[in-house]
Amino acid sequence: MEKDYYEILGVSRSASAEEIKKAYRKLALKHHPDRNQGDKAAEEKFKEAAEAYEVLGDLEKRKIYDRYGVEGLKSSGYQGPSGFEDIFSNFGDIFEDLFGFGGGGRRSRQGPVQGADLRYDLGISFEEAAHGVEKEIEITKRDTCWTCEGTGLRPGYQPQVCPTCQGRGQVMRAQGFFRLSTTCPHCQGEGRIITEPCADCDGAGLIAKKKRVSLKVPAGVDSGARMLLRGEGEGGRRGGPAGDLYVVIQVAPHEFFRREDDDIYCTLPLSMTQAALGCALEIPTIHGVKNLTIPAGSQPGQIFTLKDEGVPHLKRHGRGDMLVQAEVRTPTQLTKRQEELLREFAEIEQEKEGERHEEGFFKKLFHHRSG
Ligand SMILES: [Zn+2]
Ligand SMILES: [Zn+2]
Repeated sequence: MEKDYYEILGVSRSASAEEIKKAYRKLALKHHPDRNQGDKAAEEKFKEAAEAYEVLGDLEKRKIYDRYGVEGLKSSGYQGPSGFEDIFSNFGDIFEDLFGFGGGGRRSRQGPVQGADLRYDLGISFEEAAHGVEKEIEITKRDTCWTCEGTGLRPGYQPQVCPTCQGRGQVMRAQGFFRLSTTCPHCQGEGRIITEPCADCDGAGLIAKKKRVSLKVPAGVDSGARMLLRGEGEGGRRGGPAGDLYVVIQVAPHEFFRREDDDIYCTLPLSMTQAALGCALEIPTIHGVKNLTIPAGSQPGQIFTLKDEGVPHLKRHGRGDMLVQAEVRTPTQLTKRQEELLREFAEIEQEKEGERHEEGFFKKLFHHRSG
């Protein structure tokens, strides 16, 4: 049976060049011999995918294959997979764009290198998150060595061609049936070695430095918010730009307040009489003390809203609300007088209840127990 290259790559016959490349990349990574040591089936699939890609990845060959099949390819002079060197040269391209070594792999490895991005976790208080805060942080990072301008070379000296790979940056390595092209261990793929390293950075091109960075944390941030400080990451090498610094915000919990989006919740302890008779209270909010009127007959768990007294919205005007939840406390350790009054209160309450002739289960229970 003739092989169906489309089926092998798992794409439709109308797949775009990009789709074909993507499908091959996926298969190649999955079945790569480095990942599947000694697995014959994987090796076979890897070769099959490479063969399919060699045809479908080439517009000219794909056209012939579409019209005349594998036979057509043979009669047009195509000899089938052209040896393993080729498979791996194909694979090399795929890898290069997989990892973003744009502009032709090896060459760019000797060119400018951008510094790595850094992450800094910044803890701030609940209030700082609500009002915004200016912070100065100290980071330790590898920064460009300005003695050698990030080249790692002692000033006045040139790098030497790596003797192990003759400047290719890659060496061939045998692995069972395959010969794999891998990064040269001597020069780490740079193709050049430094025989006269810069004395300040030992040839690394980078030096560990402490740096203080100030940043303005805007009002309304919450845990997990990420601030980007461009160019504050690690230094670049050989003239490459610096990386970026990501500051990730972590907001500490508050003793009394709980935040949900931009609303703030808190619990308000009320005495039984405050809840029953109503009262006027002063409530601490993050924007200062505010007045709140508790109406007579307030229930446990009832929520009172102080409009716009929450956290400012980060990306638009206005603020969240402050939500105060009543927690009604039953009095304990009554004085004699208090107890007398409560008993009297209870009697009146029972009379009132009796007048209503209520039949509910809890009402009955109540009469029974207290009667
Ligand atoms: Zn240096
Ligand atoms: Zn080398």
